[in-house]
Amino acid sequence: MSKDFQLRRHRRARRVTLRVKPDASLVVTAPPRVPERVIRDFVADRAGWIESARERLRAVQGRRPEHLNATHPGRLELPAIDRVLVIRYEQGDRLRWRARGPETIELTGAEHPDDARALLVDVLKAMARGSLEPRVREFAETHDVHPGRITWRNPNTRWGSCSSNGNLSLSVRLLLLERPVADYVLLHELAHLEHPNHSKAFWAKVEAMCPDYRLRERELKAASRAMPVWVTG
Ligand SMILES: [Zn+2]
Repeated sequence: MSKDFQLRRHRRARRVTLRVKPDASLVVTAPPRVPERVIRDFVADRAGWIESARERLRAVQGRRPEHLNATHPGRLELPAIDRVLVIRYEQGDRLRWRARGPETIELTGAEHPDDARALLVDVLKAMARGSLEPRVREFAETHDVHPGRITWRNPNTRWGSCSSNGNLSLSVRLLLLERPVADYVLLHELAHLEHPNHSKAFWAKVEAMCPDYRLRERELKAASRAMPVWVTG
């Protein structure tokens, strides 16, 4: 049984919940005032559940290519923008990243997997702003739709969303997809500017913009299951 866990207090949490992260560590989320003793008991009671969650994880990861399980990747392959970045790690007290030449990124102070992930996601945000965002604007112009602000995030379950005032929130993980699949997601979100739902009219719009969207949707589902640990956490 593991007593080690990361405790996150959430103001809006209603109850104590457990999550085993892809690096096999345990995250406990709890409402602000639940005493730590109660949380420890809760975790102890669920030792069996935790162990089987870890077993399932090991089984899934055992079937995955080794490079997907690395918390400190040596390279970032970004097929959506046809680039490969070499990542170098340096020791240091301050957590930061900087470009060392056109295809090399240096990360400092990122020994902990969470810190490495935070920096790598920042790198992806910079890449997305520079390379994917212009493509969104180009698609928007071609298809005569008018998105507002574009924000890049790293959510766990969504590739993108479109708010009622036309702002787009897109996942930095799009960079890790093959280009036609990433483009499909961009077009899908742009189609939501006209149809804020998944109605027949919406899918007709998607099909007009991206005729092979059914294939891309399938590829997207498969890619979702093959995201590397350094980005999913
Ligand atoms: Zn949608």
